[in-house]
Amino acid sequence: MFTPKLQDYLDQPAGFRFPAPHTHTSWSSEEIRIGTPNPDNHTWAHLYIETAVKYGPYERTVASYGVSEKPATHRVIHGKLPDKLNPTDHTAVCLAVLRAIELVPPNTNIKISTSSKHIRDTLTSKLMHYEDMNWVNHDVDAPLLRMLVARLRERPGLTTIKTYTPTSDRDLRERARDLAKRALLHPPEDSDGALSDLNDNMLVYGAKLVKLTQSQIYKVLLAQKAANTPTRPSTKTHLELASAACGERLGYMPSPKEIWKSIRSKNIAHKKIRAFLWRVMHNALPCGRVWPNDPHPERALCPTCQVRETPQHILLECPDNGQETVWNEARTTLERKGITLPVALDIGTILTCGLPAKRNATPGENRLFTVVIAEASWLIWARRCKWIMEDEGKPEKRVSAPEARNTWRKRINSTLTFELLASNEKKYKKKALDPTLVYDTWTGVVDSEEKLKISLSTHRNSGVLVGSDFDRGRPPGQPG
Ligand SMILES: [Zn+2]
Repeated sequence: MFTPKLQDYLDQPAGFRFPAPHTHTSWSSEEIRIGTPNPDNHTWAHLYIETAVKYGPYERTVASYGVSEKPATHRVIHGKLPDKLNPTDHTAVCLAVLRAIELVPPNTNIKISTSSKHIRDTLTSKLMHYEDMNWVNHDVDAPLLRMLVARLRERPGLTTIKTYTPTSDRDLRERARDLAKRALLHPPEDSDGALSDLNDNMLVYGAKLVKLTQSQIYKVLLAQKAANTPTRPSTKTHLELASAACGERLGYMPSPKEIWKSIRSKNIAHKKIRAFLWRVMHNALPCGRVWPNDPHPERALCPTCQVRETPQHILLECPDNGQETVWNEARTTLERKGITLPVALDIGTILTCGLPAKRNATPGENRLFTVVIAEASWLIWARRCKWIMEDEGKPEKRVSAPEARNTWRKRINSTLTFELLASNEKKYKKKALDPTLVYDTWTGVVDSEEKLKISLSTHRNSGVLVGSDFDRGRPPGQPG
């Protein structure tokens, strides 16, 4: 049963919320209208909600919903999510409930059936929790949830929401599913019309101060900041490139949210590398720009190529910073594990290294993909910085192929060694890396499987190496 749960808000000190709603409107709990149920009303409408999500390699993911009713009516409730909402099942369920309650007369009592336990709990037992946190920790977009909850509160009719049981009416579910599938072919709902009235005083804005811990407050503030920051054009381009790269690699285009989450992947061990990828995404690397009073305006240009330095140039194009050699090494390592990088490697692939390596890949394969690409791009950047800053971009200090190869091998082997040490569960307890996952990551790309096993059981590197036998003629086990 959906209950307004507003008793708390009527209590003034508990009612302080932040960030302040809109500075120009004053929000107070008294203004929130709550429908008063009529106990004599025994009319019930039963609504069945189903959703559909379509992934395509060359277009963005889309989602839709369908609602079937018992008793049947002439209404047809189905639609495709507007572009600005995250195309997921959860979002589709929320929009379906919103659309349905807009169409069903307000006095009618409604029973909603959905397959989503998460949305059922969101609107019932966990409603206060999420609302107190200003919805920041919910996967569905906050404006949609605020709107939905406001509309539910307004209804004088009762609303219950439950999940399907195996015996729930199959026909009605089938019909709802069919409606959802058909809606996939619709044009998306108009975004502005979809979530209008956002300044409606019914909406509860802001997180509840007394309920929050310091770190929760921080989270709410960050979310607020992010929501008010427009996406920069270069970031948008990078996100699109990232999405397109996954389309070819994985057969679907991930949403920006998924991409952002992936660059915070815990498989990228170092914070500085995660921060580096974040800066590449925003085109915010400290390069390629001339600042006022810049003592070195010439540093905006690549010393060899005389073009403006961009992440693309540094990571993928420059012939003199060692990138080509590092990528060749990375490519060889990944190929040993059956992972093929695109012939023309692109920035989108680099930016999505936290997402799976290929369709149906094992966790070990995915992890190696992430580790190798993240480490390689970071190394190229770090080496380029030394050349440009410390060595002042002198031609004689360019990064030679043998040097790039050696630096890469040192780096990837020290990563391997670090992981062998970090998988010591006795020493690091819960913080330890899972030894099975470490084994799955490196098996197949090291020179000796035997030594890998020994190293893992002793938690120190007993001479196992990545890529040491790539050059024929050098005995395995000798560093390159
Ligand atoms: Zn260059």
